[in-house]
Amino acid sequence: KNADIALMQAKQAGRGKFNFYNSEISPEIKDKLEIDNQLRHALAKSECKVHYQPIVELESQKIVAAEALLRWNNSKLGQVPPDRFIPVAENNGLIRDLDQWTRRMAFSHAQFWAQDGKAIAVSVNVSAVDFEQTSLAHDIIQIIKNSELDPSMVSLEITESMLMKDPEHASDALQLLRNSGIKVAIDDFGTGYSCLAHLQTFPVNRLKIDRAFVSNMLKDANAKKIIAAIISLAHTLDMEVVAEGIETEPQRQELINMGCKLGQGYLFYAPMPADQFTELIAKQQQD
Ligand code: C2E
Ligand code: CA
Ligand code: CA
Ligand code: CA
Repeated sequence: KNADIALMQAKQAGRGKFNFYNSEISPEIKDKLEIDNQLRHALAKSECKVHYQPIVELESQKIVAAEALLRWNNSKLGQVPPDRFIPVAENNGLIRDLDQWTRRMAFSHAQFWAQDGKAIAVSVNVSAVDFEQTSLAHDIIQIIKNSELDPSMVSLEITESMLMKDPEHASDALQLLRNSGIKVAIDDFGTGYSCLAHLQTFPVNRLKIDRAFVSNMLKDANAKKIIAAIISLAHTLDMEVVAEGIETEPQRQELINMGCKLGQGYLFYAPMPADQFTELIAKQQQD
């Protein structure tokens, strides 16, 4: 939060006397300011791309879905990782346009795969700023209605904190989505503040176990216990589980033993450009 305030002060100071203050602005704030400036033109300059990370069946390693992940290659800053530009975009409101653009791209790619006879579900990330807007669920439902896409092939990834901030609104939005057949996943499950009593009242289809637990599961007994608890909770509530950030074969084996069916991570595939993903699933279909 301090950085946000400093950023605003820096912006105000910037009108007219930027150079005077420039020496006092920390490199971190300068970096954010530069990202802020450049990000405003990112879509217009066609600097954004959607990459896809396959989600596989752990046992067969068959690709069943893909998560859409935004990539930004700026003429001045180069490739900027989402962890650096998403927070800036959430701050200046650009996240709405970016997420809407990403969704449209992802839905049209998924439609293309479906027309090609491949049953690949697509997952998109939803930002908190966007989720708070009442119209988000309506908008998404409308876009899908106007497309040829089967709503059950679309899933939205939201975080626990988004559900807990305004549980009533969240519950309404999720109900709308469920009625339309769109799936909902809770992202980074286990890392946030979650209320288990509430969880059962939310119509959620899937929990995604955060990669922090997966990367520690073989060296930290507690991480493994948490994964076991999440899997059993999900199964009790009739939800699917996806383990994120699987990097090693022993992790895959252990997760299978624990009853987890789906996963994603570098062991299988890193996120890749759309055309590469399209080729990959075409090849899978031939096998
Ligand atoms: P996330 O939703 O948890 O996405 C998973 C991140 O883990 C991705 O990072 C992915 O590249 C990375 N990852 C996947 N497998 C592995 C693995 O085996 N090991 C390791 N170390 N990392 C792995 P990425 O693409 O840098 O995205 C970071 C975060 O930025 C995402 O976390 C998501 O919260 C956010 N994000 C990305 N694209 C979008 C978007 O279009 N909209 C919104 N609102 N957020 C986005
Ligand atoms: Ca995600
Ligand atoms: Ca995640
Ligand atoms: Ca994450």
